Amino acid sequence: MKEFVARAHIALADPKAVIGPLCEHMVEHGAEVEEHGGVHVVRHGGAHVRFVQEGGSTTVDARAASLEELYYLRMMVASHILEFAGGQNPAIEWSGDGGDLQRPPNFRILQVAGIRDVTPRMRRITLSGEDIARFATLSALHLNILVQHPDLPEPQWPTVGANGLIRWPDPQRRPFFRKYTVRSLDLAAGTLDIDFVLHDDAGPGSAFAETARPGDRIGVVGPGGGGLVEADWYLFAGDETALPAIARMLEQLPEGARGRALIEVADAGEIQPIDCKAGIVLDWLCRDGAAAGTTRLLADAIRDTPFPEDGSKIFAWAGCEFEAFRAIRSHLRQERGLGKEEHLVVAYWRLGRGGDEVGAEA
Ligand SMILES: Cc1cc2nc3c(=O)[nH]c(=O)nc-3n(C[C@H](O)[C@H](O)[C@H](O)COP(=O)(O)OP(=O)(O)OC[C@H]3O[C@@H](n4cnc5c(N)ncnc54)[C@H](O)[C@@H]3O)c2cc1C
Repeated sequence: MKEFVARAHIALADPKAVIGPLCEHMVEHGAEVEEHGGVHVVRHGGAHVRFVQEGGSTTVDARAASLEELYYLRMMVASHILEFAGGQNPAIEWSGDGGDLQRPPNFRILQVAGIRDVTPRMRRITLSGEDIARFATLSALHLNILVQHPDLPEPQWPTVGANGLIRWPDPQRRPFFRKYTVRSLDLAAGTLDIDFVLHDDAGPGSAFAETARPGDRIGVVGPGGGGLVEADWYLFAGDETALPAIARMLEQLPEGARGRALIEVADAGEIQPIDCKAGIVLDWLCRDGAAAGTTRLLADAIRDTPFPEDGSKIFAWAGCEFEAFRAIRSHLRQERGLGKEEHLVVAYWRLGRGGDEVGAEA
């Protein structure tokens, strides 16, 4: 099997202070790390990185099974070296495979092909482009849309720097990244659908959906994130921002699937048809006047849901506002005792904060 290889020599004033913490950090991300005589080797999936000190220089060898994986590896190494080197800002220049990448391999420019409102507050935008099949995976459901800075007359697209990191022609006015879910795909037509919540206090994502016109170009990066894990019994929970993900997963479940799905929406006008298997009980929770992100509807409904106690393999998936995410995650872990492999709970947005601050500490 072909291996893709890149190498960089990096001058670090105190290599131990950078490479050690970087390796520890990678362990938190599920990597395995070995250290022999000052040589660190980090393995993650099929990829691996080797750090060797040679005089005043640290040589980094990165190897991966595909060019795309090598791109992520180079980016991971470069961003963490810059992070752990403090203000030092060491020069990083990769040689080898991937040196001629013009654009990030997970970046595509898509075109708005259709717009329709599914419900009063949910707008479906159909995007077309080449290689749509790369988004047809249930293990990575979302992508980032790149909403252009309003002061730019023309869209700017990312390139890849010699250090492996994304570069912008005008970094001060780089696009806003917002996460959305691939709701459905039509591979024959070369299109995918994204369902946008048209929310109050519109940020770049919601505003894009309000103003998009057929023919507009939009940059996307992805697919990414976690997805569905096979189980005997499922719990799905989410507000309208997670509705597209839940609907897509429900539609793809096998015929005999069992479980419960809880979807919170503004009111009955936001309920939409979802193709649900007979063994899944779908309940809609309406806020009926309460503002999004202010209720305990989802957390309470999960608390009231009996889980099977017959040894069934359980998988719980939830996506919602940050406070609900905290309540649900803590309930599933502490009171239901679900392990790491048995749940995926994600903050999809945060009241009063922009999409790039969702994970930030309060
Ligand atoms: C993995 C993932 C997948 C997602 N998929 C989808 C999807 O398919 N469809 C979708 O619509 N959203 C989706 N979201 C949520 C979406 O990214 C956020 O709602 C994002 O904040 C919207 O960006 P914005 O630019 O419109 O608003 P921002 O600039 O991020 O925020 C501006 C203001 O709007 C508020 N706000 C943000 N979202 C909402 C909301 N839903 N209701 C009320 N107020 C809000 C914020 O609290 C803030 O005060 C997803 C999020 C994640 C993490």
